[in-house]
Amino acid sequence: MKSRRVNLRRRKRLANPDAIGGKKSIDQGDSHHRRHAHHPAEHFKAQPAGHLQKALAGSVSPEPVTAAAPLGQREHQFAGLLWRHGQLDRSDIHQITGVHPTLTGQAVAALIDAGLVRNDPPSSPGLRGRPRIPIVIDPDRRSFVGLSLSPGEVRLSRLNPLGRPKSPEIIQPVSSDRSNRDEYIRVAASILKQAIDPSLYSIGVTVTGVVDPDQKAMLFSSAAPSSSPLSLKPIYEAAGSIPLILDNDLHALSIRWLMANPTDQGEVLLVGLDDGKLGASFLLDGRPQRGSVMAANEIGHMRLAVATEQCYCGYEGCLERIISSQQLHRMGVSPQRRLDDVLADASADAPALQDVLHLLTIGLANAVNFIRPGRLVIASPLARHPIFVNYLNHHVPEHILPGLRSRVELTFWQHPYVQSAENAAWLAIAAVFAHPAEPISR
Ligand SMILES: [Zn+2]
Repeated sequence: MKSRRVNLRRRKRLANPDAIGGKKSIDQGDSHHRRHAHHPAEHFKAQPAGHLQKALAGSVSPEPVTAAAPLGQREHQFAGLLWRHGQLDRSDIHQITGVHPTLTGQAVAALIDAGLVRNDPPSSPGLRGRPRIPIVIDPDRRSFVGLSLSPGEVRLSRLNPLGRPKSPEIIQPVSSDRSNRDEYIRVAASILKQAIDPSLYSIGVTVTGVVDPDQKAMLFSSAAPSSSPLSLKPIYEAAGSIPLILDNDLHALSIRWLMANPTDQGEVLLVGLDDGKLGASFLLDGRPQRGSVMAANEIGHMRLAVATEQCYCGYEGCLERIISSQQLHRMGVSPQRRLDDVLADASADAPALQDVLHLLTIGLANAVNFIRPGRLVIASPLARHPIFVNYLNHHVPEHILPGLRSRVELTFWQHPYVQSAENAAWLAIAAVFAHPAEPISR
């Protein structure tokens, strides 16, 4: 609910999406998503002096944190507000949420104790009345680690609570073939164990494919192909008492999208796409649709009547086998030329590229017709190529049903990796900061 008494400026939308058929626009990512809120001092109702002194005391370099106290619903709600607004003071939060000032102060104190937010210096010390103490997300005291398990490699990334990397991503190549599956998990657990330090608030873990968080097992994955489940327990053991959030890699990517575009609460079909990798996540009311099992919306295994390499799922014709360098090579493109090279300069390979893009277009439009989302987001490093963006912008709408076509917006999100440990860390950040503002608890 928006209060009539505060006039907080909403964070400007980043994605700048275009309607299908309109001019193209590629969002360059989410690196600049913090904005400060406007503070209308004229409507400020001062808090009790004791409360304010206590709050001011908290602004003097809070102690380092060592243990993560569990947050309650109200703390999560306030954390979500701070994510969307950038900064607020206690009075703003009270005005927006209707939570009693004393309870507001307690919840803010709990977030400060947890090392997640801090008091900034008072913003208007010279004005009449008491100074306002802005509360902001603390970028320094806490970290969130992401661990991603994908075919042939394990990655680990450490982000601050605003999603900025605190250290370079660790990339560990490791064979994930059938004979090496236990070793693959052991390596992942070992990398995670080395990353645990007192600043760590929580851990996000992503895997490709189908997972069962209750059983702590990977059921079916390109990362470790097999028909039998693979236990992830060594990874949980490495995490120890630190909270661990396990999800599919595409869900993590879509959650990252929402964190960068928090106003985009409609129905969004997000498709992650790279050379030979394709999956989707369908966001309903700001959450990935879960289905019967935790997995991506497996658009990558949508099968078309086309000869391809055999997919790890056991079949041929899967869409993610089609949009790949291997498929171009089958069609006569030189083995030295990757999909990326052909997109950069198609030249004589233009007919092969067009065949592949045509089939991709059919697959995407089928998914849109089936789900009827308000927005189709294509998250892909390939979106840096104008030929790719222009082709899809032009041809996807042709295959969307009339009547539906004008209601679906197509957005390109030029994302460096479909599978990354940063996305996994965003899972953990979102578990703290993604809560919607609307529920009011008094
Ligand atoms: Zn397949």
